[in-house]
Amino acid sequence: MVCDLCGSDKNISKFKVEPKDEYVNLCEDCKIQIETGNLDEGHFQCLNDSMWSENSAVKVLTYRLLKSLGRSDLIDMMYFEPEEEAWANTEIEVKKDANGNILQNGDNVMVIKDLNVKGGNNIKRGEVFKNIRLGDTSGHILAKNIYIKTEFVKKV
Ligand SMILES: [Zn+2]
Repeated sequence: MVCDLCGSDKNISKFKVEPKDEYVNLCEDCKIQIETGNLDEGHFQCLNDSMWSENSAVKVLTYRLLKSLGRSDLIDMMYFEPEEEAWANTEIEVKKDANGNILQNGDNVMVIKDLNVKGGNNIKRGEVFKNIRLGDTSGHILAKNIYIKTEFVKKV
């Protein structure tokens, strides 16, 4: 397996192209740079090739990286189906806990106040939820099928 962006075979892992449940294969170098937002323009010369990919997820990720790098000259040459274009331009909401820490799928959180849950058991302050999901609802995370406001939890 090789990196969908640069073709390297170094420590390939899957990377989710939010908000869809679709993935690309990324090498360690590409992934670290994308996750930290520290893009090395030299390394990402590879986008000159990946922009022509027939895989929508690869195109969308390439588009977002080119945008971060300010390469509108290359973006102008890309061809998108309307659905791909909408996907590429979806703003990714960053969800943060009560302390401003960024929440991610799989995090464990503690609830910091008593909460009333419609039609269910109430949640007590101090209750811990493991392996949360970010879910599709703005400003909320999903803990055991219950949506909880991000401002009422902290990462533990
Ligand atoms: Zn790569």
